Amino acid sequence: MIDGPAPEMHLRPDLSALASRLGAPPVTRYAPSPTGYLHLGHVVNAIYVWGIAHALSGRVLLRVEDHDRIRSRPAFEAALLDDLDWLGFRADAGRAPVVRQSDRDGSYGAALESLRSAHLVYACNCSRKEIGGERYPNTCRALNLDDRPGRGLRVAIDAGTEAFVDALLGAVRQSPADDCGDLLLRDRDGHWTYQFAVTVDDLRDGITLVIRGADLVSSTGRQLRLARMLGRTTPPLFLHHPLVMKASGEKLSKSSGDTGVRELRAAGLSAAEIIGRAAAAVGLLPEPRPIDAGEVQALF
Ligand SMILES: [Zn+2]
Repeated sequence: MIDGPAPEMHLRPDLSALASRLGAPPVTRYAPSPTGYLHLGHVVNAIYVWGIAHALSGRVLLRVEDHDRIRSRPAFEAALLDDLDWLGFRADAGRAPVVRQSDRDGSYGAALESLRSAHLVYACNCSRKEIGGERYPNTCRALNLDDRPGRGLRVAIDAGTEAFVDALLGAVRQSPADDCGDLLLRDRDGHWTYQFAVTVDDLRDGITLVIRGADLVSSTGRQLRLARMLGRTTPPLFLHHPLVMKASGEKLSKSSGDTGVRELRAAGLSAAEIIGRAAAAVGLLPEPRPIDAGEVQALF
């Protein structure tokens, strides 16, 4: 739910307003999932992340979001790190070691315990199929089920609004209890969920500016709520940017011949040409022209 009329999607944030809201150079992150190969949509996100961070003298951390243990593959991770190097996008903190969600079980466990000690966590026996839609109707909240293998864990989400000012979308208000109900923290297979892992990571890593695609805007209210429940007093600021769309109007979800970084490399395009193509695909350039990764801040 967004206040007022349908928002016009701005392409560039007001950098001076963003800088003054941040109060210090931002710490942001590039956080790809190793569930496929990089495509132009990932390159657009990299342009926004590195471009805005560097325009504001900030830092970019790299985090491999492999919380999805079923779909993540080491081969995809190796390929995405190789493609990022080839494109020229480098994390300011380096990647020795590579930061992976799969190595952070202890952090998620500790965050879970803090919520559990506040009596906010309960076991849930519902399958995705039983729940049906996006909103969980809090079926198991009062059942006092044991936490045992095969059951998920949820945190109770009270009613109330989460309001934030997105750096491109403006004022946004969401109601997590109405939108999604009690949040799943760990699924029935024992895997940490995206919403929980990313909130714990952003808190632990001191992320002050989250830059991601507009398809994730519905997650933001729940992550703000969860962050506060985990003790975060100053939430990060958010910027949700436009997505690269297919001609059919769907967002890109997988790389294919004309959008995959691997395929474009193999076809002989340079890194700068691929970055320019991605920038043009969302309107940051009127038409494609080569632009180096080290120059993307000039687009803002
Ligand atoms: Zn349930």
